Amino acid sequence: MESGHSSRLSLRQRFYLLEVLTGLGITAHHFFTNMWRHTLHTVLGVKSARGAVTIQYPDERRPYAPRLRSLHRLVRREDGSPRCVACMMCETVCPAHCIYIVAAEHPNPEIEKVPERFDIDLGKCVFCGYCVEACPEDAIRMDTGILEFSSYSRAGMVYTKEMLLALESARPDGTPASPVPIPPDRKPR
Ligand code: SF4
Ligand code: SF4
Repeated sequence: MESGHSSRLSLRQRFYLLEVLTGLGITAHHFFTNMWRHTLHTVLGVKSARGAVTIQYPDERRPYAPRLRSLHRLVRREDGSPRCVACMMCETVCPAHCIYIVAAEHPNPEIEKVPERFDIDLGKCVFCGYCVEACPEDAIRMDTGILEFSSYSRAGMVYTKEMLLALESARPDGTPASPVPIPPDRKPR
């Protein structure tokens, strides 16, 4: 029995060679149109000429969603010290067990604890955002807009308290305000 779909094929469509040639024509049309637009954009400097959906990364970046979860940072108090009170909530809730905190007494008696050490192993992190949600002090955020962090080793993916405290929130357009941290194993010798 002939299917409903094949019964709708016209006589011309049943000659598949014609359909293949039509498809090749459409592909070639898009290819040469986009190549011409890219030539205008990159060679002749016509910035309004945009080829297809190509983004000239890293010179151009697509706008990130405001709710994007990017590289973490530790929020600072006015005196520059961490807002974190080493309550361990984030370490406890983290499903990847990639937060390591060592608590110490805070010099200010009104603040119970301060993290002596606060490491996040980004090689294990799954960017779920649970640590941000769990924090009672709003001391950890994932709003730096930084996504291009990398390392040649697993140890280089461990971000320390000092590295996390040095980061700022992204600009209003979502672009990072802080440079991408470069771990020691990527610094030129
Ligand atoms: S984003 Fe998720 S996996 Fe990463 S450190 Fe926070 S809780 Fe852990
Ligand atoms: S939940 Fe917040 S205050 Fe508690 S240890 Fe984590 S970052 Fe610090």
